[in-house]
Amino acid sequence: MDFDAMFNAQLGALKEEGNYRIFAELERRCGQFPRAKSHDDDAPDEVTVWCSNDYLGMGQHPVVRQAMKDAIDSCGTGAGGTRNISGTNHHHVALERELADLHGKEDALLFTSGYVSNWAALSTLGSRLPDAVILSDALNHASMIEGIRHSRAQKVIWKHNDPEDLDRKLAALPANAPKIVAFESVYSMDGDICPMAEIVEVAEKHGAMTYLDEVHAVGLYGPRGGGLSEREGLADRITLIEGTLGKAFGCMGGYIAGSPALCDFIRSFASGFIFTTALPPAVAAAAQASIAHLKVSQIERAQQRRQVARMRAMLDARGIPHMENPSHIIPVPIKDPVKCRMLADILMRDYGIYVQPINYPTVPKGTERLRFTPGPLHTDADIDRVVEALDVLWKQCAIAHAVA
Ligand SMILES: *Cc1c(COP(=O)(O)O)cnc(C)c1O
Repeated sequence: MDFDAMFNAQLGALKEEGNYRIFAELERRCGQFPRAKSHDDDAPDEVTVWCSNDYLGMGQHPVVRQAMKDAIDSCGTGAGGTRNISGTNHHHVALERELADLHGKEDALLFTSGYVSNWAALSTLGSRLPDAVILSDALNHASMIEGIRHSRAQKVIWKHNDPEDLDRKLAALPANAPKIVAFESVYSMDGDICPMAEIVEVAEKHGAMTYLDEVHAVGLYGPRGGGLSEREGLADRITLIEGTLGKAFGCMGGYIAGSPALCDFIRSFASGFIFTTALPPAVAAAAQASIAHLKVSQIERAQQRRQVARMRAMLDARGIPHMENPSHIIPVPIKDPVKCRMLADILMRDYGIYVQPINYPTVPKGTERLRFTPGPLHTDADIDRVVEALDVLWKQCAIAHAVA
């Protein structure tokens, strides 16, 4: 059997469609974010990153770096084991308290990533609650989909952000079945935001528990960075809030927050929690410092909002289309995988602007896009440059269309 030939056949098909993924090799420059050194031949030495999920630049914040360094110097590098066998460090417990407080919950539980937290929590809830049914928003993240699949529980998909469809689907289920409504607050590909109050209303009406992924909202929304559930005053009505430490908090790891019984249940039964080495204590310490900082500091959030609004206004002024949404994410639709890749390549090569093309299967075919995430550390001049570059490329595309 020629396994490599089998691998290459499928990779070839991806390349043919324009959906083959190419990673940019960067070296993040601490203190100069969003600037990074590029190690690619077809890019300038220094590039500006426009697609980072380190939304607020907390990955280079002095307070966060110092917390990580201090913890390395006091605890060393790794955790030394699973949480069960010698891996539970004081920093993990302190971080869980910080997270519970962030969401106004009694308890929280850490995981090695947001992906793992969704996968582990949903697969445990779905498999351990007898006759559970999981009602999943049609655009939920892969980590939730995989968790639900692994649980083997009955799954019902409801129309994206449509509480009426959710209501109909809940009503069709047996009254006594445990029901879990799984959804996100900010959907990162379109940047749209869920109608949380209506969804909670419908779930409560049917006695369903609510499972909310706030990965793209924690740190960014709410007066303390507790996400959209905090901003909307709904956190106490959400059964389980899931988040990441890897995006706005600038570190790594994932978590759930909820009641002590819920967290204890997942802690006791989730294989994805039990059988894997705990996060390095230094990562936990840094994440805690980042969360604590963003609980009180509004500067980062305010400046991010300003830069997002500024970029949108400038795109409008030049007639460059972008998907309207109430979040910090600016998707610019290209609608073709090859063109999308090509535009990203030109931006990188000629302008040192790094924006990753978003292609299938991350988004449906025909909806390919460039996705910009302006942050507090992008300067006005950075925004001017990126809009100027897009304007030039847009006009070239328009001319190419006219000639063809
Ligand atoms: C990135 C992401 C995750 C996974 O979080 P990680 O910490 O990166 O593993 C979960 N849900 C959504 C919606 C995400 O975008």
